[in-house]
Order: sequence, then C-alpha cells, then structure tokens
Amino acid sequence: MTEILVRNARVLVTMDDARRELPECDLRLRDGVIAEIGPGLATDGAEVIDAAGCVVTPGLINTHHHLFQTLTRGVPAAQDALLFGWLKALYPIWARMGPEDMRVSAEVGLAELALTGCTLSSDHLYLYPNGVRLEDTIEAAANIGLRFHPTRGAMSIGESAGGLPPDALVEDEAAILEDCIRVIDAFHDPSPGAMVQVGVAPCSPFSVSRELMRDAALLARDKGVRLHTHLAENVEDIAYSEAQFGCRPGQYAEDLGWTGPDVWHAHCVKLDAAEIELFARSRTGVAHCPCSNCRLGSGIAPVRAMRDAGVPVALGVDGSASNDAGSLIAEARMALLLQRVQTGADAMAAREMLEIATRGGAQVLGRDDLGQLALGKRADLAIWDVSGLEAAGAWDPVAALLLSGPGRVRDLLVEGRAVVRAGQLVHRDARALAAEQARRLARLMA
Ligand SMILES: [Zn+2]
Repeated sequence: MTEILVRNARVLVTMDDARRELPECDLRLRDGVIAEIGPGLATDGAEVIDAAGCVVTPGLINTHHHLFQTLTRGVPAAQDALLFGWLKALYPIWARMGPEDMRVSAEVGLAELALTGCTLSSDHLYLYPNGVRLEDTIEAAANIGLRFHPTRGAMSIGESAGGLPPDALVEDEAAILEDCIRVIDAFHDPSPGAMVQVGVAPCSPFSVSRELMRDAALLARDKGVRLHTHLAENVEDIAYSEAQFGCRPGQYAEDLGWTGPDVWHAHCVKLDAAEIELFARSRTGVAHCPCSNCRLGSGIAPVRAMRDAGVPVALGVDGSASNDAGSLIAEARMALLLQRVQTGADAMAAREMLEIATRGGAQVLGRDDLGQLALGKRADLAIWDVSGLEAAGAWDPVAALLLSGPGRVRDLLVEGRAVVRAGQLVHRDARALAAEQARRLARLMA
C-alpha cells in the first residue's frame, strides 16, 4: 500500500458536486485513490507533500490534440492560411514522418501538457505513414506518466476521389476498421482507474466516406468505446458539408450515428441553434479549442450558448501545427477571454472555465472516476504554487490560475504517482527531450 499526504494546501479546489473550496486542507491518497480530505490529517507513515502556499486542483483534462504536430510548429507555408490551405501545406511534411518521429513529438506534447496541469490527454492520430502505429503514442504517454485516451483516426478519401488529403496519406477502409479492432483489443481498458482508453476517430467528414463514418460508429458501439472527429470547424467546413452531403454537419452526424453521450466532436465553432439543441438533447460532447480557432481564423465557438443549453463542453489544445503552444492552462485562459469578447465580461467566470477544464473533460471522455477531488475518485491532481511572482498581489488565488498565473504546476500527480515534481518532469529530462526533438526536426526538414 502506498500513501501520500498532501498537506497544508492554501486552497483545495474540489470540483465536487457542491463545488467546495477548502482552505488550509489536507488530502490523503491511497493506492492511487483519494482516501481522506480534511484539515490536520495524521501522517501515519505516508509520504508527505507540503502544499503550503499552493492551490490544489483536479488535474486538467485535454480532450483534443494531434501530438505528432509538435514537429510542425510554425511551418512558414502554413502560418497564415485558413484550414484547408493550412492542411494542404502540411500533408506532404506529415507524410515523411516515421514511428520515432511520432513517439518523440508525442512525448514533447505530453510533457508540455503535464507541466501546465494536465493529467489526462486524448490524442487524435489520423495518419499512419512509414509504419507508424497507434502504440508509438501510447508508449510516449507511458514514458511521461500521463493518463491517455488515444483515438485511432483515419483518412480514406484522397485528392483523386474528391477529398482533401494526398492519395499517399489515405488508407483502405477495411484496413482502417481492422486496425481499430486490433488497437481496441490490445490497449483499451474499460475499468475504473484505467491509464489507457482507446477511441475510434475518422479524421473529418471531408477526408473519409459516409460508409466509414457509419461503420466506425457501429464498431465503436459494438466494442463499447467512444467516437471522436472534427466537426463544423469553420465556414469552409459548412460549405463542404452543404455541397457534398446536402445538409449541415449536425444533420450529417445525426444521420450516421454520430450523436450521443459516447461521442465528442472537436471545434463545433459553427454549430447553429438547432445543432446546439441536438447536441444538448443527445448529450453529444464538444472539445473546444480556442487558440487553434484563433490561429486559423475560424471564429469563436458558442460555448456560453452550449453550456446554457446543457451541451457537455471540454477543452482541447488541438495540434501544435495550429496552436502552436500546448499549455492547457493557457487554453483555459484563452477560452475564458474569448467568451467575454463574444458575450460580455459577465459571460464566463474563471471558476466555470476551471470546471470545464476538469469536470467537463471527465464528462466528455466518460470518466466519472476523474475530474474532481472527492473520496473514491482517482488521485489525479495539480499543485500550483501561488506564492511566486505571477500571482503576487492576487486577491483570489483560485481565479488567479486563469487570470494571472502561475502558468506551470509545481507538482503533478497521476494515479497518486508523481509526474512533475518541483517544476520538473520526473521521468524525462525536458532539455534532453527538446534536443531529441531538434534532431528529428533536422531530419524532417532535410
Ligand atoms: Zn484537430
């Protein structure tokens, strides 16, 4: 039995059902589970983490990423393009990547997430050139120590068939479904506390066929796993849907079985009122990716309206070719600010955004064992030192996490195990990892 006592937290932000914030509070973790919460808990031989001067929150949850893209940050030809032009500039570069590129770039992205408070990340890997496999990223998550929800993405309609990606990057649809089955059987763990859960994720309506969308939904339900894709990202995306399918994306999704509490869609910037109502009624989730939406000029997703209607909303940093940062706490800050741009300063409070980043993520990924610090939940938590310069002078240390800083955690625990300690990764040296990434980058650019 391993026990950890997190002691003297300045504030414990539980995100429990009562949304309690407990001042001067301790937290006991036993075998990866939260066992006791309260002031002045006895040490009883537990390893002690002193959290004096710190805000302790549930670990943040990232619901949309393409980890391979940390190797294509700020590519000049893609810096100033809209979504479709951006993709066309990047596809040929991605086509040159191999398994080691996938692993190293995923470790870089996951390290960045860990340092900025994330304990669980999803990933959407939709291209498999040169022998790449989903397990390249699963290995990366184990190396960093994060909980991981990889999704088996796919593209099947190449340029010659009217799709957007080059023919060399698309796969045969039967082979895609077969590999989905392979990775679910090999890696998906449905039990509470699971470190890996696999999802099925054709890339987008403009890169796979209707048949693959429909079959993917049938397969996911047969296997009891979740469904994920990109939807209604910008005006081009809506225009494509209307021209090719004769309907808006919401209708397309509903017709093919892509609504329900086991489905979450990235972006949804352009959902209209009827689509928001459809998502609310069907409990279909949304991964909101505000920095990427800004970077590609896609617009501001109607998060306030979605939340008011009852749509489950979570946050995603999206891939590093369109963010290009990978900080989840910075993403939460951006999400907060943009809702205020759209609807006014009283539209979204810092605490509501923190809830979206924690409980919201757990709901969208179907993890009722995560997202809050309550008895019996898994011990995934972020410890933020608010005694430093960034938060100095803050009247409200909880709101400060989004309004001022710190931008990085002091400590991060996943399943009660340290992933970040004293601001440093426990399992990887960040500088060595960056150097390894620089070598992969030099190869890719050559
Ligand atoms: Zn994406």
